[in-house]
Amino acid sequence: MLAPSDADSNQSPPYEDVDLFASDQPLQDAIVGNGAAADGLSVFGRRWGSAAMFERGRLANENPPKLEIFDARGDRRDRVEFHPAYHALMADSVSAGLHASTWQSDAKPASAPAQVARAARFYMAAQVETGHLCPLTMTRAAVAALAVEPALASRFVPKITTRDYDPRFAPWWEKKGITLGMGMTEKQGGTDVRTNTTKAVPAGEGYLVTGQKWFMSAPMCDAFLVLAQAVGGLTCFLMPRFRPDGAVNALHFKRLKDKLGNRSNASSEVEFVEAFAWRVGEEGRGVRTIIQMVQLTRLDCAIASAGLMRMALAQALHNARHRIVFQKKLADQPMMRSVLADIALEVEGATALVMRLCRSFDLAAGDPREAARARLLTPAVKFWVCKRAPALVYEAMECLGGNGYVETSLLPRLYREAPVNAIWEGSGNVMCLDVLRALATEREAAQSVLESLAADTAGLDGAREAASAIEATLGRGDSEAHARAAVERLALLAASAALRASAPANVSGLFARTQLVGPRRVMFGTGDIAASEAVAMLERALPL
Ligand SMILES: Cc1cc2nc3c(=O)[nH]c(=O)nc-3n(C[C@H](O)[C@H](O)[C@H](O)COP(=O)(O)OP(=O)(O)OC[C@H]3O[C@@H](n4cnc5c(N)ncnc54)[C@H](O)[C@@H]3O)c2cc1C
Repeated sequence: MLAPSDADSNQSPPYEDVDLFASDQPLQDAIVGNGAAADGLSVFGRRWGSAAMFERGRLANENPPKLEIFDARGDRRDRVEFHPAYHALMADSVSAGLHASTWQSDAKPASAPAQVARAARFYMAAQVETGHLCPLTMTRAAVAALAVEPALASRFVPKITTRDYDPRFAPWWEKKGITLGMGMTEKQGGTDVRTNTTKAVPAGEGYLVTGQKWFMSAPMCDAFLVLAQAVGGLTCFLMPRFRPDGAVNALHFKRLKDKLGNRSNASSEVEFVEAFAWRVGEEGRGVRTIIQMVQLTRLDCAIASAGLMRMALAQALHNARHRIVFQKKLADQPMMRSVLADIALEVEGATALVMRLCRSFDLAAGDPREAARARLLTPAVKFWVCKRAPALVYEAMECLGGNGYVETSLLPRLYREAPVNAIWEGSGNVMCLDVLRALATEREAAQSVLESLAADTAGLDGAREAASAIEATLGRGDSEAHARAAVERLALLAASAALRASAPANVSGLFARTQLVGPRRVMFGTGDIAASEAVAMLERALPL
């Protein structure tokens, strides 16, 4: 008897060789609605949606980096070896400017819409492989901190802003392009960095730094922004892999973390043994200096999580349009359609929200209202988008049935990847505390953001009630205990406003009706979405 042909197998074809931009109407609307042009994004979308790129993502994760502490003779090496697929992903992303296109070589911000245009690419790259985005995020964010030290910035930033990926282990000044990492978290505290015990003492043109970092990702970066205690208090430093005299600097890697996901990226435990570093900013102002960087890494966490969710949706919807169960395509089964439409709506809200936030970053330098918006909403957006990703990816996985749980599909990797963006760069509670801090320290500016969100969403179902609930909760004496509820609502209100500005009215109306009205729902597929609305959402999410 002949084996059934592939055409009869009822298995969905792989979702690859797609244009990640042209097939994503919500992304196109969010990009154009926030001031960027669509030019060139299809070229990027086709490249990153190719089967070859998905394969690189797989290889880079199935062959995680290896730490080589000593060489055969027992001499220190402290190098990390990556699979060629990781380097290929890095080279592609660097050539597209994901690590630096929001900066000019003099460390001044590139003009609008640099943030939105980069975010579109970052969002698409995140759909295929997120581990390699860690050093790229840190590199572009580090420029914000380096900018406070013009002499250092003038030497380093021109090397950062090249489009050349140069993975050689060589002094930074000999390389065509460089990447930067960050070391704040120590054993005794990641959130509470003021407990850092690493010490720095002045020596010659810089300092000698001694101590440990419990998490320091992308250890093959060319230099790291680190925090250490100087005489004047906690201070930010730039620590290069090679000392100015050309010798290898004393960054002694102890081991790489064995992580749930994010496996293509290396995250190290490291000891500094009188490692050379330059001071960045004044002594005692370390947190204030490095926070410039952290705002940008938080923004990238949210963009990447939105990208992960988009890929999970695309995989689920693609499968549902091919897989037949009970003589009908899954996508035509009313309950599956509700689940998929609910997922699509949430992805669209997250996408519009992150792109609107990028526009605030684009405009912040010349518009105090946009600066206030970026300040208040960055932690709220990171909180909501990053924390929704694991649940959403899981639901999308279930849409593929057993195939979704198997490593040959992309879903297990997306699922393992999903929690990390919420945890690092300020975990959920810390984001909510940061919203409270913005309200307490920049009360007037934060208040004006709340007012403008109320105005932007006027007339949408549930918007007025949501705005009042946010104000009431944040104004309570025990606001910290209730901050999660308020910050979640704040993000949902901001997403409704973002959708209203860039998506068709039926989408923002549906989002508000299902997300702002009534008590919060738990499961996907429980939203009040009519069949015709679900069909429209899904056609919009991925063309047939
Ligand atoms: C894969 C990975 C890579 C990383 N890479 C880097 C890196 O390159 N550089 C770097 O510096 N760090 C890195 N980190 C560390 C990361 O930033 C920290 O783990 C994170 O900031 C949390 O700090 P912590 O682990 O010390 O947790 P804690 O500070 O112990 O926090 C534990 C929990 O308590 C909550 N919490 C804290 N304070 C409060 C409060 N006042 N009220 C209520 N809840 C609170 C937090 O939200 C969190 O959920 C990485 C982490 C991971 C997982």
